[in-house]
This record gives sequence, C-alpha cells and structure tokens, in this order.
Amino acid sequence: MAKKSYDVQVVSKLCKACGLCVHLCPKNVFDRAKDGRAVPARPEDCIGCGTCELHCPDFCVETKEKEGE
Ligand code: SF4
Ligand code: SF4
Repeated sequence: MAKKSYDVQVVSKLCKACGLCVHLCPKNVFDRAKDGRAVPARPEDCIGCGTCELHCPDFCVETKEKEGE
C-alpha cells in the first residue's frame, strides 16, 4: 500500500505565533516565519497524527489526507 500523504495548512492571519504546533509536531513539519507564525515547511513528512490541530488554540492548522496517491 502506498504511503499516505497529507496537506498541511496554517491560516496565517489567525495564527498567534504561540509555537505549540512547532514544538509538538513529532515530524518537525513546521518552521517559524520571522514574525513567529507557523509555516508548514515540510508537509511531505506529516503522518496525520492530528496533534497540531488538536493543540492549536486558534484552530488555524488543518491537515487533510491527500486522495489518490
Ligand atoms: S498532523 Fe501530526 S505530523 Fe502532521 S503536521 Fe500535525 S503534528 Fe505534525
Ligand atoms: S499552534 Fe496555532 S496559533 Fe500556535 S503557532 Fe501553531 S498555528 Fe499558530
């Protein structure tokens, strides 16, 4: 079976740069922009664990399984 892959998106205008997702992601998917906001720099490493979505206080991270890959 092919490895699952995910889209990871941060709604930047809602992100308050708390860094929780950056620190909690087990696969180091996020970097921080100069203003501290999270940027999904390595979505190809996402395993879809949902930790970022669960812990983001502003519900601005979304991960979605890609279809047909
Ligand atoms: S779902 Fe898990 S692996 Fe994927 S970006 Fe969020 S915390 Fe990281
Ligand atoms: S947890 Fe949410 S608010 Fe905090 S840095 Fe990540 S995306 Fe931004």
